[in-house]
Amino acid sequence: MPYICTMISIQAFTFNPFSENTYVVFDETNEAVIIDPGCYSREEQKTLTSFTENNRLKIKYILNTHGHIDHILGNDFVKDFYKVPLLVGKYDVATQRSVKTYAPVYGFENYREAEPDQLLEEGNTIKFGTSTFKILFLPGHAPGHIGFYSEPDKLIFSGDVLFEGSIGRTDLPGGNFDTLIHSIQQKLFALPDDVIVYAGHGNPTSIGEEKITNPFCALSLLK
Ligand SMILES: [Zn+2]
Repeated sequence: MPYICTMISIQAFTFNPFSENTYVVFDETNEAVIIDPGCYSREEQKTLTSFTENNRLKIKYILNTHGHIDHILGNDFVKDFYKVPLLVGKYDVATQRSVKTYAPVYGFENYREAEPDQLLEEGNTIKFGTSTFKILFLPGHAPGHIGFYSEPDKLIFSGDVLFEGSIGRTDLPGGNFDTLIHSIQQKLFALPDDVIVYAGHGNPTSIGEEKITNPFCALSLLK
């Protein structure tokens, strides 16, 4: 379903058996980015490309919040289809490289690795149309996890760090619970309360809502 903000428009798709959120983000110029393309089946690929073609979107970049399989299953297809660069977190390349070793175990025989074209770290910015994303470094769920924050649009795409009422798992390679909580409390909870969080799974939420109600990391848990 579409989420309409002041300048930016967001189309969310839920793809692959992990119910991963893939986002197409565009503004009034029709320039767009695709965040975490999790499309794997032919139908999912077609759903994504039909949307961008029907809306005459000009895809500029493919962005990954982190390199877990469910977020990158469609990297190779999307990169090949749109012929645009793939931008990934500088410290999560190893996470991404490891996917080809376990993809067949999960039944994704057709997974093909896509080569990153540019590595991102905190402080970098990404521009498309009239929009700008700032890169935030948010390790803990994955060692090189990053988020894409738009200050004027009051939104962040923060992958599997913070969910509505939950947090990302920390039992995968490179995960660390204390690091994750630190990322949430020091980075995400430093953002204004009305910033909307578009997560890698589940519904959007807000910083203010999670600060109060999240049972894993609410500020009320701080003594
Ligand atoms: Zn993940």
